[in-house]
Amino acid sequence: MLFLLPWLALASPEDIASFEVWTSRIPDPPEVEVSTGYRFQHDVFTEVAEVLGDADVEKLGLSGSGRPIWAFHVSGEGPIERKVLVFGGIHALEWISTEVAVDLLVESLRSPPPGVQLTVVPLLNPDGRAKVEKDLREGKRHYRRGNQANVDLNRDFAVHREARAPWRKIIPGYYSTSPEALSQPESQALDALAEREQYDRAASLHAFGGFFYYPWSGRWKRVDDHKEFVRLGRLMEDAQGGHAYKTRQLARWGFFFRAQGTELDHLYGEYGTYTFLIELTRSGIKPFKPKTWKTYFRWYNPEDAEPHRARGLAAVRALVRED
Ligand SMILES: [Zn+2]
Repeated sequence: MLFLLPWLALASPEDIASFEVWTSRIPDPPEVEVSTGYRFQHDVFTEVAEVLGDADVEKLGLSGSGRPIWAFHVSGEGPIERKVLVFGGIHALEWISTEVAVDLLVESLRSPPPGVQLTVVPLLNPDGRAKVEKDLREGKRHYRRGNQANVDLNRDFAVHREARAPWRKIIPGYYSTSPEALSQPESQALDALAEREQYDRAASLHAFGGFFYYPWSGRWKRVDDHKEFVRLGRLMEDAQGGHAYKTRQLARWGFFFRAQGTELDHLYGEYGTYTFLIELTRSGIKPFKPKTWKTYFRWYNPEDAEPHRARGLAAVRALVRED
């Protein structure tokens, strides 16, 4: 019962009703070839609504232009040993991240992970997503990462905002962040959830690259928990089998590379959550298909989505269930 008490506070009949109404109002998806293999939000959230049952839905907050940001909470049998947060859709074009988050959610609703309290946020940046959906409908090819205000949410967090790399003066734009820490409603919503729940582990889903990145992203130095991060990374690699993604500290991807103000450093630095930034897929750019060079959507979302969804799911499932 002790374990149930804080949990009950999350469930809100109002949010469940509001999610159902909201889902029924999303416009039907168009038939567009450019996004073959990936669903518009209408189909994504309709699938979630169908399997939701009496699981917990929570409206974390509203985006810059007033779209709801949804979280879904699932917990399996037995006392809670571990709390895990998985979220996707931070960057507007990275639809594969939402697909993998929803795959995990649907699987977990059907078979809740024992001893785990899992929270899935399939789409943290609904405004960026809506812009890309509009582009695809209209046959436009824009490069989009940010939210309504065009802020890159993954440069909006509070930890390691200040660039210290010696190269920052040579290529200053490369190390830039948002105007101030947690300046956007979407990053505020995620931060409030993380602060309240104090997750043990988290995965932030992105594309592309084929990496399990762990902190720090804004500093070259190693984290104290380096060994535990490597252990969890290996767990995900093993779950993927052959040609698995690689486990790396993000700042050590390249000697010049740093990312300031990321969710990765924030969740670990502020709340001690073992957080991975997972770069799904190794891109959908095909050297001999020039069409894919110019279609930003395909950079992140390979045409045949299935194998990439399966690999992504295998990894996050291992992080959640550790089996
Ligand atoms: Zn990304």
